[in-house]
Amino acid sequence: MEINKILSNAGLKCTGQRIKVMEILTAADLPMSAENIHALTDGMSLSTVYRIAEKLCEKGILSKNTIRDSDKFYYELIGGAHRHYAICLSCGQMRRVNVCPVAAPDIDGFTVTGHKLEIYGYCAECERQKQTAKKRVL
Ligand SMILES: [Zn+2]
Ligand SMILES: [Zn+2]
Repeated sequence: MEINKILSNAGLKCTGQRIKVMEILTAADLPMSAENIHALTDGMSLSTVYRIAEKLCEKGILSKNTIRDSDKFYYELIGGAHRHYAICLSCGQMRRVNVCPVAAPDIDGFTVTGHKLEIYGYCAECERQKQTAKKRVL
């Protein structure tokens, strides 16, 4: 759907700043923190980015999640492709996982509409460093 339509369907005015934030999130491959979004705007203040992102969450356009129980929020468009992310425990790098390893569970008396899953481990670079460190100890 077009960004203008998404905003107007939610009863929001299509301001340039809202459109910009939506454009950045539409193009993003990963969930983004307000700081991530802020870094891609030309001079929009961080507090403006927060305000817009919170508004879009309130309207059900974005979802807001923390990753690994940190206090940092990551925003993502709702209704985009179903995605999961693998997070490196060492450097914090996130990468997209293109498969969903979860089979929809059949729960009696409960209609399942979705799920959340975070996959942890080590990226290739951190894994290599771990191996090197291990060798040094041996
Ligand atoms: Zn890593
Ligand atoms: Zn899934």
